[in-house]
Amino acid sequence: MHSYFIWTIGCQMNQAESEKISERLRGHGYIEAPSINDADIVIVNSCVVRKHAEDKVINKLHNLKPLKKAKPNLRIILTGCFVDQDSNELRKQYPYVDDFLKPGEFPDWLPPKDHPIKTSARSAVSAYIPIIQGCNNFCTYCIVPYRRGREKSRTMAEIVTEVEQLAQIGIREVTLVGQNVDSYGHDLPEKPDLAMLLTQLNQIKELARIRFLTNHPKDMSPRLIEAMRQQNKVCRQINLPVQSGDDEILRAMHRGYQIADYYALINRLRQAMPDIAITTDIIVGFPGESEHQFHNTCRVLEELRFDAVHVASYSPRIGTYAASHFADNVEPAIKKARLNTVETLQEQIAREINSSFLGQTLEVLVDGMNKGRWQGRTRSDKTVFFGGTDILQGKVVNVTISKTGPWSFQGTLAPRINTC
Ligand code: SAH
Ligand code: SF4
Repeated sequence: MHSYFIWTIGCQMNQAESEKISERLRGHGYIEAPSINDADIVIVNSCVVRKHAEDKVINKLHNLKPLKKAKPNLRIILTGCFVDQDSNELRKQYPYVDDFLKPGEFPDWLPPKDHPIKTSARSAVSAYIPIIQGCNNFCTYCIVPYRRGREKSRTMAEIVTEVEQLAQIGIREVTLVGQNVDSYGHDLPEKPDLAMLLTQLNQIKELARIRFLTNHPKDMSPRLIEAMRQQNKVCRQINLPVQSGDDEILRAMHRGYQIADYYALINRLRQAMPDIAITTDIIVGFPGESEHQFHNTCRVLEELRFDAVHVASYSPRIGTYAASHFADNVEPAIKKARLNTVETLQEQIAREINSSFLGQTLEVLVDGMNKGRWQGRTRSDKTVFFGGTDILQGKVVNVTISKTGPWSFQGTLAPRINTC
């Protein structure tokens, strides 16, 4: 029997797509290899959103060269955003790679099966479900629209069927993923939207929780906020990337909103759902970012107090508007210092927010075991560790929080186990 190994880096979409390839391979009788060196097929699912990720991909490809030499029958597949529209250049650079697939593509020799073996990507009980591919926004720093193409939604029927099938095999939580989930459906004939999709998925009996990411501040609709508020399985948690707290930088980024619009949106969300958890993405050191402009970003973090912040240093991506029109003129040492400032500030904020949960009893969906303790997540997507001897994986339980930190909670199982 042949075996495969998938190496994945990057966003949740990549993780979901790796799982799809894995599903296909298993459907054709392949098994997962214990390590990259044992595999007959190696799949590299790549990311080039930042230089840091791209360097890791290049490194991985270099490391595979001697492996291919030692095992000429090894089949190497490269997919993800490293693969551009014209793969000829890549073929020259990496002649030992057998297949080059654009994000989400499958090789011809791996046709779909009538009865795919369903699997899930996030944990044993939680799955990422792609609902819309690509992006039409062209933020000036971002390579994604060039590598993933324009927006293309999957039909509601297809998504609902997939989630129903996953729920049948024990998946309790789904996270709907797309570069901009707020655009879901505009390209389909019946023009459904994310609010409609959430309402439909909420009816799937075996499913306990629904999440979605990533939202775009310029596109989030009142209908979506209302659906989040009303549908009981939709978790009140959202990733809403602000990227910068300065209007001039936001304009240069081509984000399509001003910081006042962003504040208004956060207010609307918190008014509708006071318990909502909000996370964001930040880029520091965008071309021309002054000390004052960076402080505007810090002020937004202090005032809006996010549950988590994903911060990155700007890296120019060849082919983007920013890379060809703006000089990458913030010194690396300054970028690093700004990144550290954001991380330190956010750690303090997250510590304070999380400490407010001390002593509270929260609903936790149990993902599995970790170092002898159960690990799960709250509806606000915070990780909780707790002890217990019963088999709890996939169960929704109540946990009383006994210790909090900036990244996770410790707790003890509360007497009543909710088995819904
Ligand atoms: N669609 C999402 C994000 C996609 S990329 C959105 O609209 O925000 C994920 C994150 O990578 C972005 O939020 C951004 O913070 C970061 N990123 C994208 N391009 C980058 C670049 N050139 N340099 C640094 N960070 C970048
Ligand atoms: Fe990139 Fe902007 Fe599209 Fe997000 S919305 S994927 S940052 S172009």
